[in-house]
Amino acid sequence: MKAIIDDGCIGCGICAETCEEVFKMNDDGLAEAFAKVTPELEGSAQEAADSCPVSIIHIEED
Ligand code: SF4
Repeated sequence: MKAIIDDGCIGCGICAETCEEVFKMNDDGLAEAFAKVTPELEGSAQEAADSCPVSIIHIEED
């Protein structure tokens, strides 16, 4: 699985706090998905997606 982040990040940092194995904040202060969503990380990555205040994170098949 992989995480897709659409345009519109407001830089709140929740996704990086919720699933630091997949999401980080880049130098522009916006979220970036830097790693694959392995089976072990699906739960926390989905939690990060569900927690995004602007609902721009999607967990999809590769
Ligand atoms: S939770 Fe959403 S708005 Fe917040 S940093 Fe992550 S992608 Fe951006």
